[in-house]
Amino acid sequence: MITQNYDKVLENIKSACKSSGRKESEVTLIAVSKTKPVSDIQELYNHGVRVFGENKVQELCDKYEALPKDIKWHMIGHLQRNKVKYIIDKVELIHSVDSVRLARQIEEEAAKKNVRVDILIEVNVAGEESKFGLKTEEVPDIVTQIAGFPHVSIKGLMTIPPFAENPEDNRKYFNKLKQLAVDIKAKNIDNVSMDKLSMGMTGDYTAAVTEGASYVRVGTGIFGERNISAV
Ligand SMILES: *Cc1c(COP(=O)(O)O)cnc(C)c1O
Repeated sequence: MITQNYDKVLENIKSACKSSGRKESEVTLIAVSKTKPVSDIQELYNHGVRVFGENKVQELCDKYEALPKDIKWHMIGHLQRNKVKYIIDKVELIHSVDSVRLARQIEEEAAKKNVRVDILIEVNVAGEESKFGLKTEEVPDIVTQIAGFPHVSIKGLMTIPPFAENPEDNRKYFNKLKQLAVDIKAKNIDNVSMDKLSMGMTGDYTAAVTEGASYVRVGTGIFGERNISAV
């Protein structure tokens, strides 16, 4: 079931690429495996899938230990500074950087391990009170500050828009994120590229692809519903 779901999501991404004139190779599907057992991930791994997303440090580390080392792990959840050290050399990309303080912590831990860490800046484009992420207007200045850290590379932006019954309603937020990336890119800041947009989840990933997503983060649509109490 999981592998069929995965293939279906890939197929939907392909057709969204086709209808919006994008290349399939521009979009990476992240299978969001949070709360799901190692056996589910192993099943997808055996199907050829290598890109997974987790939102909790402990869970990511446990799964990292239990599973093959060629998996590319994406940290998509809110990250506390005191936990950066546990994941710094295990993740492909940190999607959820929302302060200079967090970026500085990543810089310090990356310097210790002599690695360079790719990050995205999380933006609360809809301006929701309850959400993590920077306000749109704060982003250019904070990007400029983080750009000075030699062991951190900003690759682009990430957003989690409001839940929408109709995914089309979120296109305006995806478009806003894209525009913000274009504006920042135009500043040509050293050590900053704005080519990657992480946006789109189970309910709205095809709309996100149409608006330019580079990474879509799909959990429920692949693994099925999560136990609510464990979210
Ligand atoms: C859980 C989660 C997802 C996946 O959500 P689904 O609706 O299950 O696809 C995507 N992004 C983030 C940041 C998440 O925490």
